[in-house]
Amino acid sequence: ILYNEIQDLKGNIRVYCRIRPFLPGQSKRQTTIEHIGENERMLDAHRLFKFNKVFSPATNQEEVYLDTQPLIRSVLDGYNVCIFAYGQTGSGKTYTMSGPNVSSKEDWGVNYRALNDLFQTSQSRKSSIIYEFCPSQPNGLAVPEASMHSVKSTTEVLELMNIGLRNRAVGSTALNERSSRSHSVLTVHVRGTEIKTNAVLHGSLHLVDLAGSERVDRSEATGDRLREAQHINKSLSALGDAIFALAQKNAHVPYRNSKLTQVLQSSLGGKAKTLMFVHLNPDVDSYSETISTLKFAQRFS
Ligand code: ADP
Ligand code: MG
Repeated sequence: ILYNEIQDLKGNIRVYCRIRPFLPGQSKRQTTIEHIGENERMLDAHRLFKFNKVFSPATNQEEVYLDTQPLIRSVLDGYNVCIFAYGQTGSGKTYTMSGPNVSSKEDWGVNYRALNDLFQTSQSRKSSIIYEFCPSQPNGLAVPEASMHSVKSTTEVLELMNIGLRNRAVGSTALNERSSRSHSVLTVHVRGTEIKTNAVLHGSLHLVDLAGSERVDRSEATGDRLREAQHINKSLSALGDAIFALAQKNAHVPYRNSKLTQVLQSSLGGKAKTLMFVHLNPDVDSYSETISTLKFAQRFS
C-alpha cells in the first residue's frame, strides 16, 4: 500500500493519516505501509490512498499540532470545529488526542495544545475581543459539576479533564478496555464579544477520541460484548455516512442514525470544519484492519 499527499485545505472536511511507529519490543516484521510524495512513481501492484496529509511514524506531537493549529484558531473566529481520532485499538488515537504523558509538555497531544493555543491566542486579542470559554461533555455522561462553569486557563481545563478521568475510577487496564469501547468527547464552547461594537460570536471545538474501529469476531464475542461491538460499529458507520454526505454537499445529511451524530449535528454542518485523523498500526498483523480503516477514510478524502 502506498500513500500520496494532496494539499487542498480549502474544503470543510479534511483527512489526515498518521502511521504509528513500531513499539519497543514489537518485532519489526514487514510493514504493510509505504508513504510516498505527490509526484513519486507508484508500483503497479499497490493500492493508493490519498489524504490531505500523511504523518509518517517519525512525526512528533508538535509537528502534528502545527498542521492542526489553523483549524483550532478558527474556533475564535466563530467556527464549529470537530476533530476525530479514528482507528483500531492500539493504533494511536489517544496518543494523538491526549498524548502518552500529560505531565510532559513535549508529549502533549492535540487536546492540550489546542486548549493552550485558544487561551493564548484569545489573550493576544484581548484589546479588541473578550473571549469566554466553557467546556463540557455533550453526551451528558459523567460531567463533573465544575465543568459547566467557564474556565480561564488551560490549567483549569486540564484539571477538569483529569477529574473526568479519575471519575471513571477504574484501573488502567480496565480504563484501556473501556476507552476502546466508548467514544470520548470533550467540547469547548467559545463566546467572543467585540469591544467596539458589542457584536457576539460563538464558536465550538469538539475533540473526539473514537471507540476502536476493529471488527469483533462473531465467533469470539457473545451477549453484551457482541451487542456493544455492534453498537460501536453502527455509530462509526453512521458518522462515516454523515461526513460523507457533508463532503458530497448532499442536501440530506443522515444525523439521526446514532447518538454521536445527533449530539454533533449542529457542529458538523453550517459554519463548521471537520478534521478526521485516521490512525494506522504498521504491523502486518493489522493488514485487514488497516484496509478497512483506509476504506472508511477514502470515502471523504
Ligand atoms: P488507541 O488509543 O488507538 O487504542 P494508543 O494511543 O493507546 O492507541 O496507542 C497504543 C500504544 O502505542 C501506546 O503505548 C502509545 O503510547 C503508542 N503510540 C501510539 N502512537 C504513537 C506514536 N505516534 N509514537 C510513539 N508511540 C505511539
Ligand atoms: Mg485509546
